[in-house]
Amino acid sequence: MPTIMPNSTYAGVDADTGLSSEQAQQRLLADGCNELPSAKPRSVLAIAWRVVREPMFMLLIACGGIYLLLGDLQDAAILLGSVFIIMGISFTQERKSERALEALRDLSSPRALVLRDGRQQRIAGRDVVVGDIILLAEGDRVPADAMLFDGHGMTVDESLLSGESAPVRKEASAAEAPRQLPAPGGDDAPFLYSGSLVVQGKGRARVVATAGQTALGRIGLALFTLQGETGRVQAEMAHAVKLVALSSIGLALLLALWYGAARGDWLNGMLAGLTLAMALLPAELPLILTIFLALGAWRIAKKKVLTRRISAIEMLGAATVLCVDKTGTLTENRMAVAQLIVDDEVHAFGAIASKPALPELFHETLEFAMLASPREPFDPMEQAILATGRAALSGTEHIHDNWTLVEEYPLSRQLLAMSRVWRSPDQANYVIAAKGAPEAIIDLCHLPGAEVARITARIDLLAEKGLRVLAVARASFGQHDLPAIQHDFDFQFSGLIGLADPLRASAAPAISECHAAGIRVVMITGDYPATALAIARASGLDTDAGMIQGDELDALDDAQLLQRLPGVNVFCRVQPEQKLRLVQALRRGGAIVAMTGDGVNDAPALKAAHIGIAMGGRGTDVAREASALVLLDDDFSAIVAAVRLGRRVFDNLRKAVVFIVAAHIPIAGMSMLPVMMGWPLVLLPVHIVFFELMIDPTCSIVFEAEPEESNVMRRPPRATDARIFDRKLLLLGLRQGLLLFALLLAVHQLAKFSGLSDEQARALTFSAMIVGDIWLIFINRSWSLPLHASVRLPNPALWWVVAGALTILGLALFLPAMNSLFHFDALPSGHLALTLALVLAILLAASMAGIFSTGVHNGAAR
Ligand code: ADP
Ligand code: MG
Repeated sequence: MPTIMPNSTYAGVDADTGLSSEQAQQRLLADGCNELPSAKPRSVLAIAWRVVREPMFMLLIACGGIYLLLGDLQDAAILLGSVFIIMGISFTQERKSERALEALRDLSSPRALVLRDGRQQRIAGRDVVVGDIILLAEGDRVPADAMLFDGHGMTVDESLLSGESAPVRKEASAAEAPRQLPAPGGDDAPFLYSGSLVVQGKGRARVVATAGQTALGRIGLALFTLQGETGRVQAEMAHAVKLVALSSIGLALLLALWYGAARGDWLNGMLAGLTLAMALLPAELPLILTIFLALGAWRIAKKKVLTRRISAIEMLGAATVLCVDKTGTLTENRMAVAQLIVDDEVHAFGAIASKPALPELFHETLEFAMLASPREPFDPMEQAILATGRAALSGTEHIHDNWTLVEEYPLSRQLLAMSRVWRSPDQANYVIAAKGAPEAIIDLCHLPGAEVARITARIDLLAEKGLRVLAVARASFGQHDLPAIQHDFDFQFSGLIGLADPLRASAAPAISECHAAGIRVVMITGDYPATALAIARASGLDTDAGMIQGDELDALDDAQLLQRLPGVNVFCRVQPEQKLRLVQALRRGGAIVAMTGDGVNDAPALKAAHIGIAMGGRGTDVAREASALVLLDDDFSAIVAAVRLGRRVFDNLRKAVVFIVAAHIPIAGMSMLPVMMGWPLVLLPVHIVFFELMIDPTCSIVFEAEPEESNVMRRPPRATDARIFDRKLLLLGLRQGLLLFALLLAVHQLAKFSGLSDEQARALTFSAMIVGDIWLIFINRSWSLPLHASVRLPNPALWWVVAGALTILGLALFLPAMNSLFHFDALPSGHLALTLALVLAILLAASMAGIFSTGVHNGAAR
């Protein structure tokens, strides 16, 4: 393909140190980021089309048209001009949320493990450059086209490129890579394609092409799009909007007929009808939902939680069960070898300062634990074993840097043990080292019953301290064909290793916060029962109901499981595959389930949970792709922070809804009543437009920034079927709105009564309405605090909005040009001051008397 610009070449990069960071930086500048253009940004035309389909747009055009027919050019110009305002708002809105999602997409896109400056580093997939040495393991997405030069039993899913669903075997090759990889397909090639998925094995590869030069890039596929799946709240919102829209159209029609029939003026009747329709249309409802969720995603991103599915934000607030991994989530996953047990002797590794030599007795166990680990391990347990071994055994004959690895038997679901087969220069036989779960190693060693009992007692000694226990065994084997399974070696038991993994300091407080918030925390681990229990106790989980082991989980049928489930908070020796059953059972029990996971096998459970949470630090790309949220620093307390935020978003949405309902009532009432009573119109389309397009939307957005209620984590989760628009909420809005309407009506009537002109009365009513709207914001800010306390809650946006609204009011009242736009006449200032003071006083009294705030219990619908 001649049109493709060649990337930098990969030649001359050392496989053991990788690129230097300067080289990488230069290549990144030269070649650009390793990312494919995502779905084309929406065109201006497409956005315009969406705006045009908005009912508000059509209403404005219709009203403007009628004014033109009536020959009222000024009003027509205002209405048609405001079309540009909504277009502008829509454009910026669209761009803003597009950008927010873009930023999240970057962060939640796959990460790559590369070798740079001789160190393994995890970087964003988009920063990978040609020549990078990438390290791949099960569950990784291949970040760029690459050539495998070192690998073990790697199979890769290339279905994305080839459509072929069966995984393809890969074979490492030392050959020079072609500048462009051949088309995918066929086993045993060394070529790895960007976007494909490592199903098994691991290896090191050299990047030969990035971004648009990859096979994937050339066919123009964009991979990772943020899902915009609709959640329950979105569905409810859409339903409500439809309902309100339909009924307001009905009402508007009725009003137009009424006006036309009563006054014989059909054109003005239509105008009155359209005005009412504009007044009633809930244009800001979908808008606030989008904004609240998008800004919610942005807020929790600051807590290192990334949102992949936007509806998860609000769902989190409803979570009733959090299922979390022990290792790495509740604990730090910083392992250290704490104790060794050989025969009946115990060696405890104390603080670093006091370092007595390790007695000879323990050397073999440590030696074989090292042999059973990779030379450059990724697993923290193995890193700890190697570090301890190197320190304790250096200079002895137990370090075998000159041995060669012959074969490796990985950990499996059936047997939690791994073995490595070695050839030494001076021994006739292979030496085999195994390490793994103690039960598995005991099984491999075929020990007599008494011996098993003795060792089990030792294991419990370690496990009860919360230590993770590994057992170590050794075997030797004549140099002929190796067996297919580890059971066919003749293992001898060597000893036990106890590894300490400190509980995160934040774990216990976060768990007690969950308990106070009525959320059950369930720990799931592959670890040994006694270890699991000890950690569960230390972190404050309720362990009274005991625990369930993986085997038991398999033995129970669905009904039995459902019965056993309540109260059990510890699940141990659980395989990732079993998590799916657990999620399903919890869901059937009526829970809203959040579940963490990191591995390939966790993906089904992550998908099945209401909120799947992938561990970003160590999680595989598969797990991320199955999840709604990605936790960047793997810390459990970040989940709790996100729950808190989810609750806040839901509360604030409800507050905004009350405000919107309440604010619409006086607008609707003041545009309907005069028509029905045969009075001159009070609110004209220009006023409605002003309220609908400027005052109300900005006011409702103020609620987004509202801090959480102080009791947000001290009340139970909202009912699983709780809705945003429940009866209590609507009644509250109705009550507030009706009071305001009554007040405005009184203002208008009194103004007329005291001899003011129509235009003056209108100006007065309009002023009172803006003051009333501001009032509505203040009383709905907090439903748990009294007004004098909630006023002091910080919310800078609020004060800007208030200042803005009052400024505009001032201009409308006192600037002659604006005066005529709004169909106002100059007001005697005494009237204005008196009216506003009176309105304020009445509203204040009403809210002090609790008329506005009772009925909704702290925002939690139950
Ligand atoms: P967790 O849920 O705590 O992360 P895992 O599923 O990772 O637990 O591991 C389950 C068990 O498998 C461990 O308790 C240990 O006995 C064994 N195991 C895990 N990794 C290794 C390893 N690299 N070498 C030997 N045994 C291991
Ligand atoms: Mg694990």
